[in-house]
Amino acid sequence: MIPAHTFNGKHVALFGLGGSGIATARALIEGGAEVTAWDDNPESVARADREGIVTADLRNIDWTHVASFVLSPGVPLTHPKPHWSVELARAAAVEIIGDVELFARERNRFAPEAPFIAVTGTNGKSTTTALTAHILETAGRDVQMGGNIGRAVMTLDPPEKDRHYVVECSSYQIDLAPSIDPTAGVLLNLTPDHLDRHGTMHHYAAIKERLVAGSQTAIIGVDDIWSAQIAERLECTGRSVIRISKRLAQTDGLYADGPVLMRAHSGKIAPIASLEGIASLRGQHNAQNALAAAAVCLSVGLDPRDIQKGLSTFPGLAHRMEQIGRKGRVIFVNDSKATNADAAAPALSSFSRIYWIAGGLPKEGGIEPLRGFFPRIAKAFLIGEGAPAFSAALGETVPYEISGTLEAAVRHAAEEASSDEAAESVVLLSPACASFDQFRNFEVRGDAFRTAVFALPGVEPTRGTK
Ligand code: ADP
Repeated sequence: MIPAHTFNGKHVALFGLGGSGIATARALIEGGAEVTAWDDNPESVARADREGIVTADLRNIDWTHVASFVLSPGVPLTHPKPHWSVELARAAAVEIIGDVELFARERNRFAPEAPFIAVTGTNGKSTTTALTAHILETAGRDVQMGGNIGRAVMTLDPPEKDRHYVVECSSYQIDLAPSIDPTAGVLLNLTPDHLDRHGTMHHYAAIKERLVAGSQTAIIGVDDIWSAQIAERLECTGRSVIRISKRLAQTDGLYADGPVLMRAHSGKIAPIASLEGIASLRGQHNAQNALAAAAVCLSVGLDPRDIQKGLSTFPGLAHRMEQIGRKGRVIFVNDSKATNADAAAPALSSFSRIYWIAGGLPKEGGIEPLRGFFPRIAKAFLIGEGAPAFSAALGETVPYEISGTLEAAVRHAAEEASSDEAAESVVLLSPACASFDQFRNFEVRGDAFRTAVFALPGVEPTRGTK
């Protein structure tokens, strides 16, 4: 745990006791703050009480003594409307911050030389964070990884000179971290997302921009117009910007030339590493993630050979285009995290002969945005409530069956894929749907896929997966 010493002796009000809230409260108490915590959910309040955290309804406290208000990132700060606790803090002119801000202040005060790598973007944050941490660890660096992935940031080990922090930051966390100042900040990409919580694309992009604007080195994916404009703007103000592109050669920056990651710098162009044959980093979207991780690692002085070693041994993240097994020429890929059409697109674009398991609780728009990938689909195996709507969209273009359950879909898809003549075919779970009609969440759905795959005779697990 990182005790929040910078709050020693201060009164702190805290709202949000689910998720990371309790860990944040503990870090504050350990650092010497007087914390008063609350939540709209009585069960969360009761749990905090049991853990010895002082709780009180923040509507009834005296805000004149409160130095800071710590808000859980899941609670609305601005949209659709500020939470009542935010209104109270604003009325009392109390700063509103979150756990990433606590971390930034602590590092700033006690170990400003500790490399702090912050990763954001609409898609690919977790992959890039985990990949960066993996490469650094493989190269023998002291690494702590957390934030929006894995452990809450204040539960990591305290900052020390050579300890590297790789922290995934959601837009909500950045919104609550006014003094975020990473050594290297990554902005992968920007597409409309979470606009219910951020109001407009302009506001959402402005929040993400803050992470790179505060960075010593800003690493920015320039393949979308919003991020490209941010790179321009920062460079105009004299910031150090490293552009990355999964599509276009850069005159100064990193880019993908097929599977090869290239660096153009001071008029010289050289390859850094290759993604050829790395199952966990298939697809153009992963080239963007790998470029960002490589740029970070170069910025903290890693040798390209160490970068290649880390890329080649990256096990990938569970449920995200995760190759779990193989039987002859058929591979089995778990992309259960793809809960809508946009999220399923990268997987469908990464394989050419697909036995596609899709369906569940459908989202608005269904699979229409995926029509361009239909020629890659040898057959679709439809499950859950979305099956009838999906079958209508596939129509005469793509053969399909309504399998009903995931287990039946896996069996049938594997059987048909095994008689496919292609050099490689894939049984792909990339449902383009939420899971809640048949499973508790996407993780449980992915685990059920894994179980069904390994119930088939002769499937060899892919090295590195759990
Ligand atoms: P996040 O943490 O931002 O949600 P993840 O790394 O968990 O992102 O990846 C979630 C899904 O997003 C992946 O399964 C893949 O479909 C897609 N994805 C990953 N990286 C990218 C990227 N760089 N660009 C677009 N989509 C991506």
